[in-house]
Amino acid sequence: MLLMEGKPVVEALREGLKVRIAALKSRGVTPCLTVTLVGDDPSSHIYVNAKDKDAKELGIESHTFRFPADMSQADLEAHVRKLSADPKVHGILVQSPLPKGLDEAKVVDCIDPAKDVDGFHPTNVGLLSLDRPGHRSCTPWGVIQVLKHYGIRTAGKRAVVIGRSDIVGKPMANLLIHKGEFGDATLTVAHSRTPDLPSVVREADIVVAAIGKPEFVKGGWLKPGAVVVDVGINRVDDPTSPKGYKVVGDVEFSSAKDVASAITPVPGCVGLMTRAILMSNTVDAAERLS
Ligand code: NAP
Repeated sequence: MLLMEGKPVVEALREGLKVRIAALKSRGVTPCLTVTLVGDDPSSHIYVNAKDKDAKELGIESHTFRFPADMSQADLEAHVRKLSADPKVHGILVQSPLPKGLDEAKVVDCIDPAKDVDGFHPTNVGLLSLDRPGHRSCTPWGVIQVLKHYGIRTAGKRAVVIGRSDIVGKPMANLLIHKGEFGDATLTVAHSRTPDLPSVVREADIVVAAIGKPEFVKGGWLKPGAVVVDVGINRVDDPTSPKGYKVVGDVEFSSAKDVASAITPVPGCVGLMTRAILMSNTVDAAERLS
């Protein structure tokens, strides 16, 4: 069984980024990422700090804007429009979820698509669907980089994506049916209304799980030799851990590892990739905009 760790993939990606950032800086351009955080969701604070750290380590300028939960829709949209118009800013990310009462879609619409490093703007979603250049949603694009790194071609394979969210499931499905060695899959997208999920999963050579339910997919559901990519990040109680919890994926690793030919660990793969692709999208944006 191949354990598809994210670390070597991220390291290779970051080495490439360092060269490109140096080239930009030699032309007087410093890639600049802005992260906007509204409210005080504790997980969002952790994610935002991690993004800031990643950027600084690479020499990407990073600015975090923090606003109270009662910020108005109009003020938030005005803030995002200002960043979109600022020529020094290359990447704009608005941390999700926004507090209740704020319309996330309308805020995303205010991001210049060229600076939409999360790949959530309808223009980038459309470009992805057409397989034309644009910012790719970080998590699914990170999954494709993992498959490439470990030489797992999806062409001609049966793939099942479990989950149809706008940020993971749908863009993942789109990427897997694009033409090419790391596309060309014969695809099923499953969701909460899919009957008999185990038998659907059993058909798949490649399973991507993006459900948000701890250890939901069992090893016994898998076709022997399947490749498993676990996108899930779930906190579960663990009295033996000093923190009182541990992080597990959407796949039951203990049973899946004995059936799969390759599997991603949680934590340790897709989460790291998502962060690295955000940096890569920021560098792409700086190159295209300068
Ligand atoms: P989401 O928006 O809640 O979507 C979950 C999807 O799973 C939905 O399409 C839902 O179906 C489907 N689902 C729920 N219960 C199901 C069931 N019993 N059987 C089959 N499908 C079921 O979640 P998300 O944002 O896509 O995230 C999914 C997971 O990935 C979460 O654990 C999240 O924390 C993690 N995540 C990780 C990263 C990373 O960097 N590693 C990034 C983003 C998300 P319906 O559409 O029918 O409701």
